[in-house]
Amino acid sequence: MELGTVYATLGSKVDVVEMTPGLLPGADRDLVPPLQKRLEKLFTKIMLNTAVTALKDEITKVKVTFKLPDGKMEDKTYDKVLVSVGRKPNSKVPGLENTKVKVNERGFITVNKQLQTDDPSVYAVGDVAGDPMLAHKASHEGRTAIEHILGIR
Ligand SMILES: Cc1cc2nc3c(=O)[nH]c(=O)nc-3n(C[C@H](O)[C@H](O)[C@H](O)COP(=O)(O)OP(=O)(O)OC[C@H]3O[C@@H](n4cnc5c(N)ncnc54)[C@H](O)[C@@H]3O)c2cc1C
Repeated sequence: MELGTVYATLGSKVDVVEMTPGLLPGADRDLVPPLQKRLEKLFTKIMLNTAVTALKDEITKVKVTFKLPDGKMEDKTYDKVLVSVGRKPNSKVPGLENTKVKVNERGFITVNKQLQTDDPSVYAVGDVAGDPMLAHKASHEGRTAIEHILGIR
C-alpha cells in the first residue's frame, strides 16, 4: 500500500487487489475508511474480495488472473506487479546448522529475553527473532543484545 501510493503519486496507474473485504487487514478498522476515501482518488482501481490466482510472465508485461467476488475469473495485463504478501524471516543463514541455534516452524530463530539463541555465543535480533517485524523492535533488540554481551543489565 505504501509503495503503491509512491508509484501512483509519481504518475503510474495503480490497481490494488486485496483478498479480504477491507484494505490493510492488520490495521485499526476505524482508520481504514478515511484512508480508503483518499486512496480511491489516487489509485485507478481498488479490488476487494478479489484473489490473484495466477501471474504469467509475458516478457514485457505480466498477465494477472483474478478471482472476482462473484467467483468469475478475469485476466488483466500490467507493466509491473508489486507483490506485498508473505513476508517471512530470512533465517536460512549458511552454516547455521553447524551451531546450536534453533529455528522454529515459522522460520524465526529462537531467542531468550536477552536475544541469545540456543547457542550462547550467537544472538539474533529483528525480523529473524520474531514478530512484530518492525524497525523499532529490531533496533531496540540490537541494543538489548549488545548490553547483554557487555554485561550491562
Ligand atoms: C516495504 C516495507 C516497508 C516497511 N515499512 C516499515 C515501517 O514503516 N515501519 C517499521 O517499523 N518497519 C517497516 N518495515 C519493516 C522493517 O524494514 C524491518 O522490520 C526491519 O528492517 C528489520 O530489521 P532487521 O535488521 O531485522 O532486518 P533487515 O533490515 O532486513 O536487515 C537484515 C540485513 O541482513 C542482510 N543479510 C541477510 N542474509 C545475510 C547473510 N547470510 N549474510 C550477511 N548479511 C545478510 C540483508 O541483506 C539485510 O541488509 C517495512 C518493511 C518493508 C519490506
